[in-house]
Amino acid sequence: MIRIGQGIDIHRFSDDPARPLILGGVRFDDGAGLVGHSDADAVIHAIIDAIIGAAGLGDIGMLFPDDDPTLAGADSSSLLGEAMRRVHEMGWKVSNVDCTVVLERPKLAPRRAEMQERLTELVGAPVSVKATRAEGLGAIGRAEGILCVAVALIQRADEEEC
Ligand code: MG
Repeated sequence: MIRIGQGIDIHRFSDDPARPLILGGVRFDDGAGLVGHSDADAVIHAIIDAIIGAAGLGDIGMLFPDDDPTLAGADSSSLLGEAMRRVHEMGWKVSNVDCTVVLERPKLAPRRAEMQERLTELVGAPVSVKATRAEGLGAIGRAEGILCVAVALIQRADEEEC
């Protein structure tokens, strides 16, 4: 038995140049980070939504409410770890995840392998990261924020690889 899920997340850039920029569990040191209750890692948030959506576990806001004071500044890698724990507990394993990040900055290409490696380790299955630009269109095109779209395929943990 297989299930598919999709996730979308968007965060705007902070005006605070000291705010760290974290994408796919990797820290970028060129420019301000994204605004959010947690570390605002839009890539990991989209991946969490895709995986828990596939498992029928609702959405990221249900699992990790953005008014929960214990989650202020949370490391999204640990949120993904907790989401994986719940998905495994329900008897699912992830087959693969694919995501596309829409952004004007920073350049992902030099860090793509590192992001994929980190995410693959966190998910326990291949995660691919692609990037594209919004060609100047809309808020993302004006570099006001970053959008990420992810899809995840999951399967029953007790069945053969599909
Ligand atoms: Mg988010």
